Amino acid sequence: RNNAEKFEFQAEVSRLMDIIINSLYSNKDIFLRELISNASDALDKIRFLSLTDKEVLGEGDTSKLEIQIKLDKEKKILSLRDRGIGMTKEDLIKNLGTIAKSGTSAFVEKMQSSGDLNLIGQFGVGFYSVYLVADYVEVISKHNDDKQYVWESKADGAFAISEDTWNEPLGRGTEIRLHLRDEAQEYLEEGKLKELVKKYSEFINFPIYIWASKEIDVEVPADEDSSDEEDNADTRSSEDGEYEDAEKSEDDDAEKKPKTKKVKETTYEWELLNDVKAIWLRSPKEVTDEEYTKFYKSLAKDFSDEKPMAWSHFTAEVDVEFKAVLFVPPKAPHDLYESYYNTNKANLKFREGLVDSDTLPLNVSREMLQAHSSLKTIKKKLIRKALDMIQVEKSGDDDEKKGQYTKFWNEFGKSIKLGIIEDATNRNRLAKLLRFESTKLDGKLTSLDQYILGMKSGQKDIFYITGTSKEHLEKSPFLERLKKKNYEVIFFTDPVDEYLMQYLMDYEGKQFQNVSKEGLKIGKDSKNKELKESFKELTKWWKGALASENVDERIMQSQTLSDASKQAYMRGKRVLEINPRHPIIKKLR
Ligand code: ADP
Ligand code: MG
Repeated sequence: RNNAEKFEFQAEVSRLMDIIINSLYSNKDIFLRELISNASDALDKIRFLSLTDKEVLGEGDTSKLEIQIKLDKEKKILSLRDRGIGMTKEDLIKNLGTIAKSGTSAFVEKMQSSGDLNLIGQFGVGFYSVYLVADYVEVISKHNDDKQYVWESKADGAFAISEDTWNEPLGRGTEIRLHLRDEAQEYLEEGKLKELVKKYSEFINFPIYIWASKEIDVEVPADEDSSDEEDNADTRSSEDGEYEDAEKSEDDDAEKKPKTKKVKETTYEWELLNDVKAIWLRSPKEVTDEEYTKFYKSLAKDFSDEKPMAWSHFTAEVDVEFKAVLFVPPKAPHDLYESYYNTNKANLKFREGLVDSDTLPLNVSREMLQAHSSLKTIKKKLIRKALDMIQVEKSGDDDEKKGQYTKFWNEFGKSIKLGIIEDATNRNRLAKLLRFESTKLDGKLTSLDQYILGMKSGQKDIFYITGTSKEHLEKSPFLERLKKKNYEVIFFTDPVDEYLMQYLMDYEGKQFQNVSKEGLKIGKDSKNKELKESFKELTKWWKGALASENVDERIMQSQTLSDASKQAYMRGKRVLEINPRHPIIKKLR
């Protein structure tokens, strides 16, 4: 094509494609799942834009939010078309080849160790799975802001982009044409495709059609000459060339007048393959665990064998009406914290979920939508619900629950900490979820609530120490004194912990005390006892010198006389105040 511009794939992408092409991975079907998922994402995007601007949808067929699949046996092409947002020329260049996503090298590494391609979608490179079954791929795309373009590549390290002057105009959206490899011809079988689409589209919220053949009976005149002609016509349009029925009906109709006969004819029409069922609109009581799990997998593109750790399905009716399903995934996404460092917004990002609301006003600008108070309310409620969900999960004392929570903590603990730093309103709720090691636990994890339960009588503060590792901290001289007195000290060893402790000032009325800071005050009572003990002889001498047992001895809390001492004095007592810093005893007249 003379207007084609050539581009080279970014190196990592090229490597990924090589791996896919040469992969012995047997479950090649997954390419269809990835294409359907991309089509559905593209439709979601245009639908979202249409909330604020109806015009973007266009008119006629273009406005139909649907996916269409066609098989061309002759040309060995499988094509999938969506009426989604489409891609501009620049989008095609960036999204399909030149900009490697963060997941690219992570996935390449994973592939080299496991060979398991199934997780490709989670790494944001699902598109390239088309090369499991095709050796040449065309992507035709039309975005509202640009002309129609064709992207094409034989996966030989390069791709080309041309302005599309020869295909039928798409209106809007994307058509992917897979020129199937010889060994992948099975994907031209209608039956196989229907079965696969049904499997992969259970939770796709847009109708998916296939251009399906259909045998229909047509009545044609039984007149000898013309029937020959009809038969010839049938031969041209029929795929399988089955004529037994046609002959039979010729016999049956033989006596009837006027003479007609029934023949089978193959026609094509769009056949709907999925029923768009919205799990979140159903009553939670009617949805089975298996359905939630499947829904989660399709939502999160998580096709591992693992189940979500927890989910929450609810309807909110106060202030804003909405329905939502939230999930805690079995594993933290590979880029969870990476994106935190980019966007500073990972608070509770471990949730995966869906929210549906009719209350949101249409025809407001996007900025307004973002700032809209309903959205704020929704966000607030979602965070609450997500926290409840985790809370429920960790409640219960049996080992299984504890084990589950530990698993959650290991995957998402950092998110909770970042949440504490960012989200002042939910700080205390999040603090409840914290887990850490301490001087009293051998490798096990404890919570702040447990810590407080185990506090010594008279202990006012929560003691902690920060450092790079527990092993290192255990040798800290600061711990000696506390350990000897049997105080529990929390080890904060995550790099984020130091930062965390700047935000977490107190918990349930208890202050946090860094034991390696100067001027550490241990529990008041025991310290008093200790001091009193060390000043015992002196006190005794004083009491003797004053010739009175009516002496109230107390430890000085400050340089000035304490209120308690003043009151004791008023009641006619003699008061001794012991200044712990300077071993002198102050005498009140
Ligand atoms: P992911 O879907 O996880 O982003 P993919 O490799 O599947 O990763 O797709 C890469 C990108 O290509 C998408 O993010 C999207 O921008 C673009 N893309 C792929 N298919 C379509 C499509 N049918 N319509 C619009 N954009 C698409
Ligand atoms: Mg994708």
